[in-house]
Amino acid sequence: MSGIDFAQLPHTPMYICEEALLEKNLDLLGHIQRESGAKVILALKGFAMWSTFSLVAKYLHGCTASGLHEAKLAREKMNKEVHTYSPAFKDDEIDEIARISDDIVFNSPSQFHRYYERVKAINPTISISLRVNPEYSSSPVDLYNPCGLYSRLGTTIANFDPEIVSKLDGLNFHALCEQNVDALEGVLEAFEAKFGDYIDTMKYINFGGGHHITRVDYDVDRLIEVIRAFKARHNGITVYLEPGEAVGWQTGILVASVLDIMHNGMDIAILDTSAEAHMPDTLAMPYRAMIRGSGEANEKAYTYRLGGNTCLAGDIMGDYSFDEPLNVGDKIIFEDQIHYTFVKNTTFNGIKLPSLALWSKEEKLIIVHEFGYEDYRNRLS
Ligand SMILES: *Cc1c(COP(=O)(O)O)cnc(C)c1O
Repeated sequence: MSGIDFAQLPHTPMYICEEALLEKNLDLLGHIQRESGAKVILALKGFAMWSTFSLVAKYLHGCTASGLHEAKLAREKMNKEVHTYSPAFKDDEIDEIARISDDIVFNSPSQFHRYYERVKAINPTISISLRVNPEYSSSPVDLYNPCGLYSRLGTTIANFDPEIVSKLDGLNFHALCEQNVDALEGVLEAFEAKFGDYIDTMKYINFGGGHHITRVDYDVDRLIEVIRAFKARHNGITVYLEPGEAVGWQTGILVASVLDIMHNGMDIAILDTSAEAHMPDTLAMPYRAMIRGSGEANEKAYTYRLGGNTCLAGDIMGDYSFDEPLNVGDKIIFEDQIHYTFVKNTTFNGIKLPSLALWSKEEKLIIVHEFGYEDYRNRLS
């Protein structure tokens, strides 16, 4: 994004996705597909900037959707494979989901029994899958651990119903979060130990998401080996990966402006964005977002607590230091804010949603969507 003049941005806050960086991630995922034979689909839950989907579609096989709305977006904006999973489907949505999906993933045998015939009647060629819980996880954070105690996500082997196996085309698991291939190997071992009897009658196995493939230290060659070996053990079975984060990982920024500087025991800068509304994982995970040109508190000469423009006391990005004092109007650039950010945004406090923009390969800023009062009003009554 070297050609961009942040001082000249027409407004903030603004997410700016850099097309070349997105393509770099897609290219790596394409390499994995070619070398391993796996199919990669995008988990919309983590990244759904559909203005980029014509690019994404050049590399990936389609999308994985978490329900009706994501499935509709996948069909409308990418129109490749649509795999739809929900913890539970609903009577008033299942018919449309069946019509527009290539693949439906039930969470439990009871959901399978409730909807299998209905789904097949509407869409006879749809693939049917069950999400299983391999009861193995090394996920670092409970909030993001699908295999934790009493997890509702997926069917454990104790609750598995072998009666339905003949009607299943696939098995899905999703057990990882921001993890490397060693964690996948652990999950696969547990999955094969528990569900091994059923794998070879399936057309495919979906390894879920949470593979931090595009992170620099991810062992891509090992992933390719692991997938190849799995396929070799199981008659060349089709393998899917459905990453979200790895697609949007380090593909862009959130730019905010300093609105005011105040003092209460320390220097405090108020920004025109919000950790709560625009960077929710910084509070939920939690993690500290990187700010371009900043250091830890007291590392550089001028330290500030950065806070959001809402009335939530805890709407704080953290304490950061800078070489120069901050001034009203200065731009603050939060790194890596493209995945799990705007897909989760809220209009809490009526705060303006950040615009969505693309920094194109031709080095042009394309503001794809600007939000306003109506977006706040229309979600209320
Ligand atoms: C969240 C999720 C994904 C994507 O996970 P990432 O961590 O973004 O790669 C894939 N599959 C399922 C079932 C999910 O819930």
